[in-house]
Amino acid sequence: MYYRNQKGWHYFAADIRDWRDTASARFDERVTRHAKDGTLTEQCPTDALSAFSGSKIICVGRNYRKHAEELGNDVPTRPLWFSKPPSAIVGGGQQVILPKGYGRIDYEGELALIIGRQARNVTVEQAGDYIGGVTACFDMTARELQKSDGQWTRAKGFDTFLPLACLVAPFSPEWSRGMLEVWKNNELVQKDRFSSMVFGFAELVADLSACMTLEPGDLILTGTPEGVGPVAAGDRLKITISGPAIISLSVTCAE
Ligand code: ZN
Repeated sequence: MYYRNQKGWHYFAADIRDWRDTASARFDERVTRHAKDGTLTEQCPTDALSAFSGSKIICVGRNYRKHAEELGNDVPTRPLWFSKPPSAIVGGGQQVILPKGYGRIDYEGELALIIGRQARNVTVEQAGDYIGGVTACFDMTARELQKSDGQWTRAKGFDTFLPLACLVAPFSPEWSRGMLEVWKNNELVQKDRFSSMVFGFAELVADLSACMTLEPGDLILTGTPEGVGPVAAGDRLKITISGPAIISLSVTCAE
């Protein structure tokens, strides 16, 4: 994964450990300045797929009450965790390949947290210090397979099922007051505030770190609001997350 500061594109992994201490202030200015001019849409370098720098991608399901309800599920009382493989990542401007013979494929627009420091057994109060940045992504899902398999590994794990923005904004607690919007073919289909999440950013990191050691570059997908729906070949998806900065990601779907 890449992030960009005033010197151009950088591999995320190389600098993330120092990022919060040294580069974040300058990078923050850059992102903020662009954000005032309008939404940023980054075309990821074509080798974004191989540039993921973390050890794992962990996701939370049903973390927005209305989304849980729209699919007929109960709202969880504890975060409901699952994972996606790094091989699912594609960058902005690239294609989501819809696998044939697996039924309905859905988009789920989400904010992804990027871990900045190794985190193990951190408290909710400490958790924000371990989050390096945020970015936008889609958690593509083979909805019928999710039900028939009984667990979610294949349904969430096809190649290209994780379109991921290359631009990373520094994390701050202010993101909790930000919002997410998703358009399918220019029609607004998802819109909600991160304050609607059942479990907030810090709660998610704290809860997950009680189970597994989180490493710099690891991604945590924070769930999707209501309005998920199916895609077909030719559909265009766009997500924008806005808060202290604005990050946008666009992909097209193909067979
Ligand atoms: Zn999801």
